[in-house]
Amino acid sequence: MKRTVFVALFLLLLRAASVQISFKVQDIFGTCTLSQYGHYSSIDAIEHPIDLKQYEDNCVIRISYANDEPLKEFLLGSTSKSKSNSNSNSNITYKKWGKNNNQQTLDIQIDANSLGKLVERFPTMVYKMVIKDLSQAVYETFPLSKVPLILESNNDIHSFSEEVFFKEYRDIATINSWLSLLQATYPDIIKIEDIGETFEHKKLQVVHFSVPSSEIEHREKKTVVITGGIHAREWISVSTTLYLIYKLVQLYDTWPESKMLTNLNFLFIPVFNPDGYEYTWTTDRLWRKNRQQTPVPKCFGIDIDHSYDYHWTKSSDWACGEEYSGESPFEAFESRIWNSYLDETNQQHKISGYIDLHSYSQEILYPYAYSCNQQPRDEENLLELAYGIARSIRLQSGEDYQVLPACIDKDADLLPDLGSGTSLDFMYHNKAYWAYQLKLRDTGDHGFLLPSKYIEPVGNEVYAAIKYFCSFILSDER
Ligand SMILES: [Zn+2]
Repeated sequence: MKRTVFVALFLLLLRAASVQISFKVQDIFGTCTLSQYGHYSSIDAIEHPIDLKQYEDNCVIRISYANDEPLKEFLLGSTSKSKSNSNSNSNITYKKWGKNNNQQTLDIQIDANSLGKLVERFPTMVYKMVIKDLSQAVYETFPLSKVPLILESNNDIHSFSEEVFFKEYRDIATINSWLSLLQATYPDIIKIEDIGETFEHKKLQVVHFSVPSSEIEHREKKTVVITGGIHAREWISVSTTLYLIYKLVQLYDTWPESKMLTNLNFLFIPVFNPDGYEYTWTTDRLWRKNRQQTPVPKCFGIDIDHSYDYHWTKSSDWACGEEYSGESPFEAFESRIWNSYLDETNQQHKISGYIDLHSYSQEILYPYAYSCNQQPRDEENLLELAYGIARSIRLQSGEDYQVLPACIDKDADLLPDLGSGTSLDFMYHNKAYWAYQLKLRDTGDHGFLLPSKYIEPVGNEVYAAIKYFCSFILSDER
């Protein structure tokens, strides 16, 4: 009954908001799959979700910098004046995407002109083309269809979610409708809390998931916090957080007395950066920061994950750069709101676990990010838990996730400001005994532009990881 109400309400909302969403016919037998997207250039520009021309002539390449010190220095910018993510040295402009420390490779987004100059400057540079047609790759991450969705009224929330909602990435309006209807369907266990307003006056929302128990009081339970979307373009981290909520609801329906549900509270923030996320849907799919004004006119955005007040240092990146930290700690609206929420609810929640979802590179990062010289407490167990998470993922999907200290991933050993002020360090130091950052799929073939067909596989492998994480926390004596 409730589920029918949920679906009916959701349909109404979809229509009212005229959200363009549709049912994508899937070949359930998994036989041949042609891309259902035509080439974006064959479609009237007015039909494009955003201006795709901005990525024309851009590609993503993977450069191997092993055995080439000058190239490494140039790319990773260990010299003073460099800008970590958007490097305009010698008129060669590029944006850093991802790095593989084991393979010593760096993925960058670069235009044809700059690539030519880069090759001229480093004639022996070894690189491989990863994304040849960036506009097309961007285009293919948006929902395909524009036909309104029509569902039978007897669909329940589960078939609804599996058949439709998680088949595509969703914009913030659709996500918010889905969440508030989930709350309407499960009012006893799900409460959406508006914890503050962003620079652009969007709500920052926490999904509080807690199953009432007669045996253990709410504030006696350990709390697990899971956040997604701190970086706007990392859409898979948003869909995965939503998927985890959905899997817990499913677990509640089938096994409400499960220990994971009755003995733990969960706080989810699926869209930690609502302004930035919205911007990736309307203007620039590859935007990373939030959207607040900086001291430099026409430069917007602070890297939220560089704005926490724990070993905060001002970034060497300028205000227009992708890793700009702001001028002082907690200048980013989102981290400041989250910090006051944590202060206000300090008595209600005993936060024990924290997982911050990002992409890409398939890595499990443990504290600290700001320095490789700072030893995390209880390192042996911290590592054991990280390897357990990696194993759970491997057993679920066969995918490999590397375990490494966050400081290495962030190059804090090369440029000290790069790993400072992270959410991981802040939560680990102040709140959560066990804390990790998970960088989700893939290892670079699609990078930030992971196609939507991976939403469910990634959701399932992370759910396996979270189940393991929760059982570890439940058995932890602390
Ligand atoms: Zn990220």
